[in-house]
Amino acid sequence: MTNLNQPIHLSQQRLESLMNRINQAADQPEILSTILEEFSITLEKLDQQQQESVTIINASQIELQHYRELFNSTSEAYIVTDITGKIHTANPAASTMLNISPNHLIGKLLPVFVCESHRQAFRTKLEQVNQSCQSTAWEVQLQPRHSEYFPAAIAVSPIRDNQGNLTKLRWLISDIRHRQQAEALRQELAEQQELSELKSRFLGTVSHEFRTPLTTILSSSEMLERYSDRLSPERKTVHFHKISQCVGYMTQLLEDILIYSKADAEKLEFNPTVVNLSEFCQNLVEDLHLEAANQQRIQFKCNDDDICGNFDPKLLRQILSNLLTNALKYSPNGDPVDFELNLEENQAIIIIRDRGIGIPANDQVHLFEPFHRAQNTGTINGTGLGLAIVKKAVDLHQGKISVQSKIDIGTTFTVKLPLLNVKKF
Ligand code: ADP
Repeated sequence: MTNLNQPIHLSQQRLESLMNRINQAADQPEILSTILEEFSITLEKLDQQQQESVTIINASQIELQHYRELFNSTSEAYIVTDITGKIHTANPAASTMLNISPNHLIGKLLPVFVCESHRQAFRTKLEQVNQSCQSTAWEVQLQPRHSEYFPAAIAVSPIRDNQGNLTKLRWLISDIRHRQQAEALRQELAEQQELSELKSRFLGTVSHEFRTPLTTILSSSEMLERYSDRLSPERKTVHFHKISQCVGYMTQLLEDILIYSKADAEKLEFNPTVVNLSEFCQNLVEDLHLEAANQQRIQFKCNDDDICGNFDPKLLRQILSNLLTNALKYSPNGDPVDFELNLEENQAIIIIRDRGIGIPANDQVHLFEPFHRAQNTGTINGTGLGLAIVKKAVDLHQGKISVQSKIDIGTTFTVKLPLLNVKKF
């Protein structure tokens, strides 16, 4: 804004001399005096406006100084570039961050300071900002001059001229090494906490699950030892049967723990071979029906007798028998279980549907975590390991598993296994 002090002052002087001359010449027309009076009022207003302008300019200069200090003192890099990314202005933090003197920084292209592997993506983002005229933010690896690269968060916003055209870009760049280190530390702590929770759940489950069969074994063996002479052969068989059942249960439990721990340590073997899935399922159903309690309850349906794919037979058995025995076990009223096998778009779709106790919504999210059992299992025994093993086995097949369930209505597990493209591990 131009300074009006001098012209106003000059005008005032001239006005005064004019007034003097008018007063001296009394025969001058009155009109001249009126014009001069008005002229004088206008000058006074101008003077007043000039004072106000000076006040506004002073305030703006103070504010500008504050922003300049902020621009110069912040630890984040502020950079203004043209739309091609050529640097016009940069604060001292930018020159420290990019390890280059301020003079040398001006005129350089910003992408030069981005790691080569991230540079193409950076240019694409730059183009997107230019096209969309929208602010955006993302993370990159910055490559300062002659020094180690590091992760940085970038926020860029457009600068427009008075006509609204995009003319420049304003960049805010922050070094996020500390943030990432803190995040890694937090994750490590969370993992440790999860591990210790897992250990205590493991000990709790194992000690609980072993205590019951051990007590049964102890009492049956005591009966056999003490009253051997008085027990009928049938009673003896019952006790021997109880003992062998309990031993079988504990062996199965140990087996599950072993499989899960192998899977968790990524050491579970995956040996895919061509399997006729339709036949495999049919045989499995027959095996499960051999157990008295299951009484032909599994209703198997298949839309194709020849669904063949690359599967690991051992893991496949783990997946299907765990899901089927769960469906039977958690349907205490003895309701039938639907078992469907379909072929869809080069993948096998396996559906196992029961009409049992269902799974509370809160528990559904934790189902595949080891040792997790839903609140409504009551006296139905189990370890919470089966589904964790199923999930690992499905993952190894690059498949997907999902569940839908409603309390007291029933549960449906759907497993999708690709027939081909199974990688050797
Ligand atoms: P468990 O040995 O306890 O059966 P799983 O890992 O096989 O362990 O299952 C985890 C939990 O998921 C079970 O304890 C049970 O609460 C719930 N669950 C699994 N399948 C069913 C089902 N078909 N119906 C109801 N609940 C189920």
